[in-house]
Amino acid sequence: DMSPMSPPSKDLVAHLDHLCLEIFKTRCAEDSGLRDRAEIRDDLLMWLRQFYRDIDLHLFGSSLNGFGGKSSDIDMCLTFQSNGTGEGLNFPALVEEIQHALKGHKSVYQLVAITTAKVPIVKFAYGRNRIQVDISLYNRLGIMNTQLLHAYSIIDPRVRPLVYMTKNLAKTTGIGDASRGSLSSYAYSLMSLYFLQQVSPPVIPVLQELSDPDVGVKVETVDGANVYFYRNQDKLDDVWPHRNENKSSLGELWLQLLEFYSSKDFHSSQRVVCIRKKDPLYKFDKLWTSTNICIEDPFDLNHNLGSGLSKRMNIFIVKTFQKAIKHFSSFPKRDGMPLEKYYF
Ligand code: ATP
Ligand code: MG
Repeated sequence: DMSPMSPPSKDLVAHLDHLCLEIFKTRCAEDSGLRDRAEIRDDLLMWLRQFYRDIDLHLFGSSLNGFGGKSSDIDMCLTFQSNGTGEGLNFPALVEEIQHALKGHKSVYQLVAITTAKVPIVKFAYGRNRIQVDISLYNRLGIMNTQLLHAYSIIDPRVRPLVYMTKNLAKTTGIGDASRGSLSSYAYSLMSLYFLQQVSPPVIPVLQELSDPDVGVKVETVDGANVYFYRNQDKLDDVWPHRNENKSSLGELWLQLLEFYSSKDFHSSQRVVCIRKKDPLYKFDKLWTSTNICIEDPFDLNHNLGSGLSKRMNIFIVKTFQKAIKHFSSFPKRDGMPLEKYYF
């Protein structure tokens, strides 16, 4: 095994570049997969409109954020056209009603309503492939953060493969399930983007800090949060002249990302993973006293995505990143297993 700090050999980097692209291609939803998701949405919307005439059903999460995989769930959010903000609605009761309405649908299996969670949802498996669907209510910030993540996904061709690598690592090592005390995919996507902003030179900008000369500095508010971010991709180079300054390859960036979250440096610095600004944000600034990893939601600034972590799980996550450095640095095989097969 090579020491993590010594620069990786040319052969290793070439191998990792190839591996990252292979894993990306394998996990990435094909266009047909995305079409299926829209069709499932349309089917459920038609069905539910028998019961509620004026509803809309919005896709969000990885069906639209650029980081979707074949095994991703489908995140949907239900709203009423006659009620823009959801004010005055009893969400837990409504979630139970929706569950009831879905009972007769022939493609819906394993239907449950989760009414006691902070975000009440209806959860079920759909169709022959039993694809997992979550329907929440008025998750308007979810729709906005989906747009933000999508904007990042198209800035540089290295962004998507790297986020897939992190999500893949999380899902295959048992650190990627928030309902079991670890972190959600969304949290790992934010961690990947934060690394790409903080690496020197940066691979991506901080879109929430770029102002659009055509639009001016604008505050857009949804549910009390400022959801402004720079959207004019065609003119991004005018306001952020650093595109392509970072020449590292995918494989190099992947090792650097693993080192970033493995290092004592990061964990002892008391920094918060925060993609909305470039300057460091400290746990102290937020009055977040946890020694665990803290991840600030880019819009809901009071929300720490790491708040559900136990000390034990936090250690397990860091260990997993450290083990991954060793794993991905051992070239080309480990225990006779081809590297390509290792994380599936
Ligand atoms: P996957 O491909 O694994 O489904 P994903 O990008 O859809 O990944 P999810 O974790 O399913 O990520 O999250 C989907 C959406 O749900 C996110 O865009 C976010 O809006 C919301 N979300 C998920 N986890 C949290 C959380 N812990 N706090 C707030 N919002 C969350
Ligand atoms: Mg999802």
